[in-house]
Amino acid sequence: MNAHVVLNADLHCHSTVSDGTLSPVDVVLRAHANGVDLLALTDHDEVGGLAEARNVAGNLGLQFINGVEISVSWQGDTIHIVGLNIDPNHPSLLAGLAQIKSGRTIRAQKIAQALEAMGIPNAFEGAMRYAENAELISRAHFARYLIELKWARDMPSVFQHYLVRGKPGYVAHEWASLKDALGWIHDAGGVSVIAHPGRYRISQAQRQQLFEEFKALHGMAIEVVSGSHGTAQIAGFAHIARQYGFLASRASDFHSVTESPIDLGRAPPLPLDLIPVWTVF
Ligand code: AMP
Ligand code: MN
Ligand code: MN
Ligand code: MN
Repeated sequence: MNAHVVLNADLHCHSTVSDGTLSPVDVVLRAHANGVDLLALTDHDEVGGLAEARNVAGNLGLQFINGVEISVSWQGDTIHIVGLNIDPNHPSLLAGLAQIKSGRTIRAQKIAQALEAMGIPNAFEGAMRYAENAELISRAHFARYLIELKWARDMPSVFQHYLVRGKPGYVAHEWASLKDALGWIHDAGGVSVIAHPGRYRISQAQRQQLFEEFKALHGMAIEVVSGSHGTAQIAGFAHIARQYGFLASRASDFHSVTESPIDLGRAPPLPLDLIPVWTVF
């Protein structure tokens, strides 16, 4: 793809196939209406929405990239690695995702037990009502159920009070290793991207180590622009991209019209000197 054309690219968002609230088709329609030229759907640990999204995008003349956002455990924390331009039928990728999804269901049962101990019965069933894909249950589905029950008023506060480390509904979980996740993405012909590097509550030294390790494992790109990055973070991660020779991605991480701070295609532009990740698609 031509590096010199400034595209409205949005390379990270979610549908009802994971924890978004729009169907894959509606995500594509909204992206198109918002002026997106190049879209990747990147559901958590799931590729099941890609075929229908690609189909609609084709009808609209919107360029579509197959994506996925893989949950990874790294130094005791959870980080997310996006795979772009993957072959969604690649066997080792599919086997890896299947393993992560079965772990999600087990974790969800433990989350429900923890919530039950707080006096919230049947939370598994309640959260599952929000999960349109029964194989993919997320903390976001529990969050929506807790808001329905009026335990909190919105997503940020329900996470802050109940669903993050140190809070009663939090359950530690072992996701994929960084090495395995990158291996699956690369085997499937994809480009690996560190998602929203500014969101992890890790030390500066650890963040540096994450970039080093990612680079050593042939990791290729980072989200310089993300719906969860402010101006200073964009400048900081642009510097990291230059320093490490990472390609740069731009992403809204859109989940929902009412919950997401940044709509599809509305994240700030990439700094012009960086090499956009889509130049290698
Ligand atoms: P999980 O992968 O099931 O642990 O759920 C993580 C998802 O919960 C993220 O992808 C977000 O969609 C959502 N999430 C996590 N933290 C927050 C937060 N502080 N506020 C709103 N949503 C959050
Ligand atoms: Mn999510
Ligand atoms: Mn994420
Ligand atoms: Mn995401």
